[in-house]
Amino acid sequence: MVYNWLINTHNYLYPYICSLCGSTSDLQIDLCKDCLDDLVCDNSACIRCGLPLTGQSGQSFCGQCLRKPPQYHGTFAAFTYSTPLTGLITQLKFNGKIQLARVLAEAWLQRFAHAGIPLPDAILPVPLHRRRIWSRGYNQALEIARPIARHFNLPLLSGYVLRTRHTAAQSTLLSRQRKANVRGCFKIARRLPFQRIAIVDDVVTTGSTVQELARMLVSEGVREIYVWCIARAMSRQD
Ligand SMILES: [Zn+2]
Ligand SMILES: [Zn+2]
Repeated sequence: MVYNWLINTHNYLYPYICSLCGSTSDLQIDLCKDCLDDLVCDNSACIRCGLPLTGQSGQSFCGQCLRKPPQYHGTFAAFTYSTPLTGLITQLKFNGKIQLARVLAEAWLQRFAHAGIPLPDAILPVPLHRRRIWSRGYNQALEIARPIARHFNLPLLSGYVLRTRHTAAQSTLLSRQRKANVRGCFKIARRLPFQRIAIVDDVVTTGSTVQELARMLVSEGVREIYVWCIARAMSRQD
């Protein structure tokens, strides 16, 4: 009762404002219900890589994953990487809007709640090279992973894996260049005492970065690896 009163008073004094349309939101996040409902998602994607399934209905894996599966075992993308979400992610990564990390994480949690996916033992945000953290001010994957780890009361693995090579931004490269760009760019800094790990990233495009990270986790003895991302590009070529 008192708690509700406190929340109502807080919301009256500091209303949640939708980051997309500017109207007040009663979802307890800076995104209104209409705009959240407008974000596109793909409920029939490949369970393993998160790309759209094009064949008959009823299948769970795409042809590529059946022929040559990636090192990770499943992907949960809350949304497809399309407008208006692309704008929010650009603001988060390139315009210093760190507060959008929590908004996106909350939106991700709302979608995840209905997905029926088992939880891992720990959460590992995709590490950034220290030079990129220095220029951006933060690692957006870590900022997204924070509220998710807190929500599930799971360990957040920060500082366990380092990005030791300052690579070109993946977004500037073609699909085939991305794989070479990230090859060998991660290093284990501390032993990972967990068997099932979810890698968290903002956007998965070709999957090269999470594949490289998963490859290293497998070599460290991690048994199950999941990719949790806010958005998945709907083609490997994007
Ligand atoms: Zn809105
Ligand atoms: Zn697949």
